[in-house]
Amino acid sequence: NSPLHEFDPEVAAAVDAELHRQQSTLEMIASENFAPVAVLQAQGSVLTNKYAEGYPGRRYYGGCEHVDVIERLAIDRVTALFGAEAANVQPHSGAQANAAAMFALLQPGDTILGLDLAHGGHLTHGMRINFSGKLYNVVAYHVDAETHRVDMEEVERLAKEHRPKLIIAGWSAYPRQLDFAAFRAIADEVGAYLMVDMAHFAGLVAAGLHPSPVPYADVVTTTTHKTLGGPRGGVILCRDEYAKKINSAVFPGQQGGPLEHVIAAKAVAFKAAASEQFRERQQRTLRGAGLLAERLTQADAVDAGVSVLTGGTDVHLVLVDLRASELDGRQAEDRLHTAGITVNRNAVPFDPRPPMVTSGLRIGTPALATRGFQEADFREVSDVIAEALKPGFDDATARQLRSRVTALAEGHPLYPSL
Ligand code: PLP
Repeated sequence: NSPLHEFDPEVAAAVDAELHRQQSTLEMIASENFAPVAVLQAQGSVLTNKYAEGYPGRRYYGGCEHVDVIERLAIDRVTALFGAEAANVQPHSGAQANAAAMFALLQPGDTILGLDLAHGGHLTHGMRINFSGKLYNVVAYHVDAETHRVDMEEVERLAKEHRPKLIIAGWSAYPRQLDFAAFRAIADEVGAYLMVDMAHFAGLVAAGLHPSPVPYADVVTTTTHKTLGGPRGGVILCRDEYAKKINSAVFPGQQGGPLEHVIAAKAVAFKAAASEQFRERQQRTLRGAGLLAERLTQADAVDAGVSVLTGGTDVHLVLVDLRASELDGRQAEDRLHTAGITVNRNAVPFDPRPPMVTSGLRIGTPALATRGFQEADFREVSDVIAEALKPGFDDATARQLRSRVTALAEGHPLYPSL
């Protein structure tokens, strides 16, 4: 028995149960992944004990010689991985990376232009009760009602009309690539900074399977736990000219002591992300999402009201559109849950249903690719999802789909050494 089991059996039991849940179900939440054991080890290390306010070589605490090595490694690896001039690896999360980046570039009351939350943007891109909506004057752009792709004409029109100080390109729920060059041109036209939040697709960028925003953006923020597959956390990449401002906005602007155990885990994840194995995994991630989109757009697959936003995907996720279906987002999420597949319901643009119900599902493939899913496995799971969304779903269907899910999970054991 581990010290945790000895000392705190209640917490240990819940941790064990969560491990079992991850092992026995199929994780298809697009923002989740499975961190390698090496990352878990770094994050669970004695580094959690260390205060290290400041930056490598310039700390406000003694005894930082080893955490300096670690933070330097993380910075060097992430700048090399993305070809960035400078990096801050201290943000505790993606939201804090965005808060610090905006704190560095803006004054309260400045205008920001970001993708509407209801159209796939993130809370930190200007949602009303988020810090971004409270501190800044928010103007939102949208996707086109027909194509469901970001309406660059609207971005340009709004930028010219409102002269934002910052334009944010990036998304939490959008199945296509953005045109970073076009965003850059608009930002230049109105004298705005361009920030790209690549939290979702950073792993694809690292693998060279998605255009990089780094050459175009003044600042690029990301999380490290989504497609990148590392510990929960955030990173800011920027040009050298902004590095000082960004560093001071993270500490002491927004945060106190950095989480050096998480920074060590980030360093491990960046090393992994530079490998051929990682690239191959991101290829399977994309292939899996493509197969799912294909299956859900086949006429025989689902009921007539179910479709896929934009008709497909270029990234690691598919947005299922249920606006024309009697099935709503909550019911669809519940059906997949009973079959052993975890996804999240998600509002789709122009959603007629309330936010707690929604008319969409966001389904992602990064975690399954990490688990080792191959094309045949992705075909099978796509088929299970299609079956679950058909009319006439009942207990018998649920049981049958659950056993297919179990077979897939058992075929790809997760964390066998834990
Ligand atoms: N930015 C985007 C685009 C995201 O999708 C998310 C998380 O969902 C975040 C930022 C925030 O990351 P975190 O949850 O680590 O604060």
